[in-house]
Amino acid sequence: MKTYPLTLIDYEIIEEAKSKITQLYEDDRHHVGAALRTKSGNIVSAVHIEAYVGRVTVCAEAIAIGKAISDGEKDFDAIVAVRHPYSDEQERELKIVSPCGMCRELISDYAPDCFIILNVDGENVKIKIGDLIPLKYSREV
Ligand SMILES: [Zn+2]
Repeated sequence: MKTYPLTLIDYEIIEEAKSKITQLYEDDRHHVGAALRTKSGNIVSAVHIEAYVGRVTVCAEAIAIGKAISDGEKDFDAIVAVRHPYSDEQERELKIVSPCGMCRELISDYAPDCFIILNVDGENVKIKIGDLIPLKYSREV
């Protein structure tokens, strides 16, 4: 899988995602934050909303994308999600997490050339969303 090095502006969205979830963290409510950068250079961030019935939970990436689109933004350059530890976890570090399968679908639908920031073998890198969802379902044959 081809990876790309982070640039300075990629660190800005990592810090924004960390800042957002640090500000809004609540046990069993919000423990993942995401931030995306639009191709116009704007940064949009959100936290996930957890529900008592798990399948109702909405990921932070999906909320960030919805927030950006609702504000008239369409083209996304990069997105990252970070997980805040639960209050009873020993490990206190915020970590970059991989998008779930549903978020991969959503990101590739709305931004097929978007970069995803991931930690691979201890190194933060970017990967094109298309490489994270090979042979994606398509209406075209
Ligand atoms: Zn997700």
